[in-house]
Amino acid sequence: MFSMRYIIIIFTLFLFSCKSADVSERIIDRPIIFNEERMQLSLNYLEERYGLEKSSPEISPKMIVLHWTAIPDLESSFRAFNSVKLPGAREDIQKAGALNVSAHFLVDRDGTIYRLMPETTMARHVIGLNHAAIGVENVGGTKETPLTKAQLKANIDLVKYLAEKHDIEYLLGHYEYPQFVGHELWLEKDESYRTQKTDPGKEFMHKVRKKTKNLNFKPVPKNDAK
Ligand SMILES: [Zn+2]
Repeated sequence: MFSMRYIIIIFTLFLFSCKSADVSERIIDRPIIFNEERMQLSLNYLEERYGLEKSSPEISPKMIVLHWTAIPDLESSFRAFNSVKLPGAREDIQKAGALNVSAHFLVDRDGTIYRLMPETTMARHVIGLNHAAIGVENVGGTKETPLTKAQLKANIDLVKYLAEKHDIEYLLGHYEYPQFVGHELWLEKDESYRTQKTDPGKEFMHKVRKKTKNLNFKPVPKNDAK
């Protein structure tokens, strides 16, 4: 009798753990505009930045890059990625192509996960590595809107989900991208094309890494040549 109850409790706990791990059911598709023009701009980017001549902007993801939008709310964050072309304000990266920035996922402050585009289509979110990188953006990151616990949990769940689905070797914070200069995955041709990044913060990365340790990602290269 006692052992039967024990088995039921264990089984119930097992069911609960399965449910919470099933991120795919929680992901809400909210696609950004991906028309013929964005497709062409993506192909141009792959060719001009990386020397990759392709007929489609498909990628084989090898890394996950975590970000914050530095925009306090969901709708404004979504709008920043939705346009096909870079807004005039982004002079810093304008010379490297007209394709607007985007990411594959956008995590709201309550932890809701939106998928903005397929994981195997190239998004512009990290210099040098877009041909192999899935981007996860988090709403917020300003002084007034530090990333939330719900976002931390959503990022951890999402990383686990993506690592199961794709052949992911690296997990990095956007601020760590310069460490890949010289790495075999680094393809940016212009040595002067670099931006300084701090997102999504060292503390956030430390916490995500701690909870995804068993996925055995490779360590981010030590090289920090800029
Ligand atoms: Zn970023």
